[in-house]
This record gives sequence, C-alpha cells and structure tokens, in this order.
Amino acid sequence: MNRQLHDQILKTFFECDPPAITAIFREFLNALTAEDTLPPVAQMAQNYETARSNPEIHLLPGNLKDARDAVFPYFWGTDSWSSPLHLENVKGPANYASLVGALACLLKNPNLCTDTYSQRSNELEVKSVTALANLLFYHTRDPWGVFTMGGTISNLYGARIGIEKALPGAMQQGLRGARLAGIVSAAAHYSNRSVAGWLGLGTANLHAIPTDAKLAMRLDLLGETLDRLYADGTRVAFVTATFGTTDASGVDDIAGIRAVIEDKAAAHGMPVPQLHVDAAVGWALSFLTAYDLTANPLDFSAELLEQVRRAQAHALGLRQADSITIDFHKMGWGHYPGSAFLVNNRSDLRYLAREVSETPYFSEADGRRDPALFTLECSRPALGPYTVMASLNAIGLSGWQLLIARSLELAQRLKDRLEAIDHCKVLNPGTTGPGVVWWVLPKGRNAKEIFARLEAGELPPEKFAGYAAEIRRLFDKRQESMDPARDARLSFTTGIGYQPHGIDLPAWKAVLFNPRTDEAIIDRLAAGIAEMV
Ligand SMILES: *Cc1c(COP(=O)(O)O)cnc(C)c1O
Repeated sequence: MNRQLHDQILKTFFECDPPAITAIFREFLNALTAEDTLPPVAQMAQNYETARSNPEIHLLPGNLKDARDAVFPYFWGTDSWSSPLHLENVKGPANYASLVGALACLLKNPNLCTDTYSQRSNELEVKSVTALANLLFYHTRDPWGVFTMGGTISNLYGARIGIEKALPGAMQQGLRGARLAGIVSAAAHYSNRSVAGWLGLGTANLHAIPTDAKLAMRLDLLGETLDRLYADGTRVAFVTATFGTTDASGVDDIAGIRAVIEDKAAAHGMPVPQLHVDAAVGWALSFLTAYDLTANPLDFSAELLEQVRRAQAHALGLRQADSITIDFHKMGWGHYPGSAFLVNNRSDLRYLAREVSETPYFSEADGRRDPALFTLECSRPALGPYTVMASLNAIGLSGWQLLIARSLELAQRLKDRLEAIDHCKVLNPGTTGPGVVWWVLPKGRNAKEIFARLEAGELPPEKFAGYAAEIRRLFDKRQESMDPARDARLSFTTGIGYQPHGIDLPAWKAVLFNPRTDEAIIDRLAAGIAEMV
C-alpha cells in the first residue's frame, strides 16, 4: 500500500487544521455577504440537464479547497431567504445564534441514538425538549420528547401512539383488519395524509372535519363524525388538531376538542383518541404566554396587546394536548432539521417502546436515557438540541416576545391595508399569526360583497369559478410586472382550508415571518395592489 498517500489523506482530512478551515469558512461568509446586496432571485440558473449524466468523482486526492469547489456553484447565487422581500411562506433566514449552535454540533458530530454515542448531547436534548415542553404545556410535571427530521415525522409519532392506544399490540401484530381512523381539520397540513398512508391506516381513513371561517375545526361536526365512526365500530386512533394552519394561521380550539373526544369516547365505551397538536408553525405564540399585559414591559401598542391577549388564550389550549409537534426551523428561525415531538406525560412513550433485545446494536441501552429504544430513527443528528438551546438562551424570552409580536404586528398592518381596498378581501381577519391570505379582484368589483354572497350560499360554484380565475390572473400579472429589487415576493394558495359550501378559496398569500421585513415593504405592497386593474 502507498502509505505516503494514505498519510497525506489522513493529514488533510482527519486532522483539524484551524487556519485552513477558518479561511474557507471566511470565504463562504464573504460570498454570503456579497449576495446580500443582490435582489432575492436565483442568480444562477439550475442545470438539471447534466446533474445525472455527469456525476463525476475526482480521481486523485485533493484538499479542503476541493471540497469547497465541489459545492460552491450550488452555494453561490442561491437564495438564503434573508431578503426582507421574501413573504412567500414560513421559510426565512436562520438566526445566527442557531448557526453558532449548529457549528458546535457539527464539530463534534454526536449521534443521539444512545447516551454512549452522544455523551452530553443527549443531556442537551433532554434539556431542550423540557424547556420547550415547559413553554408549551406550561410547566408540566413529567414531559419528554425527541427531535425528529421534521414536522411530518413529529406528527407521525403522535399518530403512532394513538394507533397503539386504540389497538394495543399493533406494533407487533399490525392492524389485523381493524377499522381504524384518524381525524384532522380540512385546513390541516398535508403531512397528516402522508402519515396516515405511511402508517398503514390509509389516507381514506383520515377524516377531514370542515373548519369555521376562523380556520378552526368545527366542534359540532367533530362530534357528529365521532358518533358516526363509533356507531360503525370504528376506533379513532388520534385527533390531530392544528395550532397555526400553514396558510392562514388558524388555530383549533384544543380544549373544546378535548371535551368532545372525552365525551364521545365515554358515550360509546371507546378509548379516548390521542389528542396530538400539530403546532409546527404556531407553537411560537407560546412565547407570549407569560407576557404581562398590564405592565407591558416591551411597550406594545394597544392593538398589538389585543393580539397578544388572543395568542395567550389560544396557547392555553395546548395544556390539553397529549403530544405536540413543533418546528424550530420555522418560527424559531433555526436550522434544519429542528423539529421536536413533545409528550405531556412521559409514560406515553411506552406505546413506542422496543425491548433491548430488539436493538442488538445497543445491548447496553437503558430505556431511561437512550432514545433509540423508542425513536423511529436509529442515528439522529443533534442539530436540533444545539440550535434550539443556543437560540433560546441567546435571544432570551423577551427577545422572542419581541420577534413574535413584531410578526403579528406586521401581519395585522398588511391585513388593515388590504381590507381598506374595495377590490380586496382579507380571508383570515381574525386569526393570530404571521399568515395573511386575501383576494384581489379587478378594480370596480366589491370583493367583500362577493365573499358575503359566497358565504351565504348565493354564489353558484360556476359563477365563483369566474371570480377565482380573476384572482389568479391578477396574481400572475403582478408576478410578471414586479420589480424584484423592491417588490415583496408573495405566493398563491389554491385553498386556504376554509370551504364555505364546499368551495375551495384560492388566495394570495404573504407570511410576515422575516424579522427584516418592515412597514415600508408592506405599504408598497398594498399601494401596488390598490393600483391594480
Ligand atoms: C410545515 C408544516 C408541517 C411539516 O413540517 P416539516 O418540518 O416541513 O416536515 C406540518 N404541519 C404544519 C402545520 C406545517 O406548517
């Protein structure tokens, strides 16, 4: 063997050379800073044509700069979503405290599967899930949780516990032809359908309950659906409530859902479904739970205090949840993946537990400390715990309160500006969150009146389809004529989740999520829309 070459590889790639690494890191940072001066559009066209035909591997060993060069074209000129003009979705800039945490994690590269593989990183996971659980369930007694690959997987954990509660032994025996169902609202995230499919429940057995105009699951229809399913001999494994719908920031009445499911399960002699809450986006409202509305230490305006009051009322519901999904990579402005699955009572983890004998790799595992005994994943990154604890403690509770409140304030400003325009109608005036969805119709139309007729059932679907086409056409028109250096970037949803008389409501959409967005951007957006014909 050519030991000399081997030694060279060892020296270059397995011995830490701080100057070489920081030099490259500085180059990446310089590129990032330079890009920040450019408008938020893709600067480099994608090249999928040869991505498959030329997946070349270099022949000879190189150095760390080759590593840099291998990825640089995919780094430069691509968007890091830091521009304040990005309003498309719950995707924004990651905060730099999170970066510090992430870098620390990457330098050690722990694996959260067991204590031995992660050492103190597992402890950090316990610390961060407990901090989050205390924030969300509000000082609960015996919470637990794990970080997962994303909100979809966190929702999967909730549904999985529900299946095991409703059909004990399903982990080993499968569903054995049992009639099993899950329930969400019509405004729930599509990941719940993925979960129903992937868990073998079947998407056809995931029932979507219509929402009211505030995008909250209708409790009367939840009750009716439970009666119907139970009368039919179907077991309901879980009800997944949404705390902050992705498009319109609707929040389900979790305490109300708790009352309905307990009442109906008791009446039919059925086990109570798992009450899982998908708070992937909305969880951050919990930072406002302890805000003192009277002392008002952060000088919130009277209008903003009203929103904080609503956020506090919503957050109370979280205490009724059995388990919660949170995405720190959304309103925590953290790096991917930063999703956590939290349970209110640690004992619920027994529904996921494996025996040590089923994990022969980890024969030394201890159920009290080693998540591998109940997680879906085997190897798990520690980026979640590192980015979360770094962000939580660097920004601090009042820092978080300011960030979240600012987002609510800007969303409200946009709603107010748009609602003042005759040919616009805000579709989620009463929700508390960063999302704004609205219609823009041609000048001269009375958007509010059209909406009222639709809700009253006076607008036949064919007639509404004509208006829906106008809403889309005007959106496309703005896309074509906008100035990428000055105009906010929006997105379009084909259905916000509320379906009056079964009709999907398409909408223009903005998420006031980027802390760098300001009043001038919102006012310019509204002024541009007011001028549209
Ligand atoms: C984004 C989102 C999800 C999915 O989360 P990922 O982290 O993207 O997998 C689930 N539910 C809601 C409400 C979401 O907004």
